[in-house]
Amino acid sequence: MQVIDTHAHLNFDRYDKDREQVIQNAFKNDVKYIINIGIDKRTSEQSLALASQYKRIFATAGWHPHAADKYSEEDLLELLGKDKIVAVGEIGLDYCRNLSPRKIQKEVFARQIEVAKQYDLPIVVHDRDAHADVMEILKDHSPQKVVFHCYAGDYDMMQEVIEQGWFLSFTGVVTFDKNKYFHILQDIPEDRFFVETDAPYLTPKPYRGKRNRPEYVKQIIEFISMIRGKSPNKIAEKTTANAEEFFNLP
Ligand SMILES: [Zn+2]
Ligand SMILES: [Zn+2]
Repeated sequence: MQVIDTHAHLNFDRYDKDREQVIQNAFKNDVKYIINIGIDKRTSEQSLALASQYKRIFATAGWHPHAADKYSEEDLLELLGKDKIVAVGEIGLDYCRNLSPRKIQKEVFARQIEVAKQYDLPIVVHDRDAHADVMEILKDHSPQKVVFHCYAGDYDMMQEVIEQGWFLSFTGVVTFDKNKYFHILQDIPEDRFFVETDAPYLTPKPYRGKRNRPEYVKQIIEFISMIRGKSPNKIAEKTTANAEEFFNLP
């Protein structure tokens, strides 16, 4: 089985002591590619540095809603000029913590969508307690390719996302709340989702509580395969192909 962790933050200091080991271990354990996600200027640069160090790591650049008030379009454009940037993200709205004012979050989300369109890049969307506004901004600006990372919406929203031609990505959170995600995981079309760890956070069962690592996407795949009544290999094969197409990976 070959899997892709489409969303990790291996640049975070929780990996400072053993980053090299964590990465090599992931590659030894069926992880084909890792996409390391930026959340502001510094972390996007760190993601790029990791991507230039490891052939099988790719990077994104973007300003997370928490960092929206520090957004610099000049810096984003400069980052997007570099090799191995496969998406703009993570970008979106976060009304749970509201670390940037909502008005600025919305403006900066919209600006980054426009930049992604210009560069013909997919976007990785962070949506926390902001479904209605996220959907409205996306529909207004209609980016080409959209994934809702760490999907946490309901069944109706899943259908709406699918109708728009967009994607969902699932983290270990689905293993915490089977009731909430059962029908979503059962019914979502097989060509419209993939998986991610969001490492170091959201470690799936049975490792919940520990620091997350990229190879734990296999636990998420196993969980999904149980619900869909397919073999883990089949789910791995399809989610890997979906992610490769979405992010335009080699
Ligand atoms: Zn996020
Ligand atoms: Zn993230």
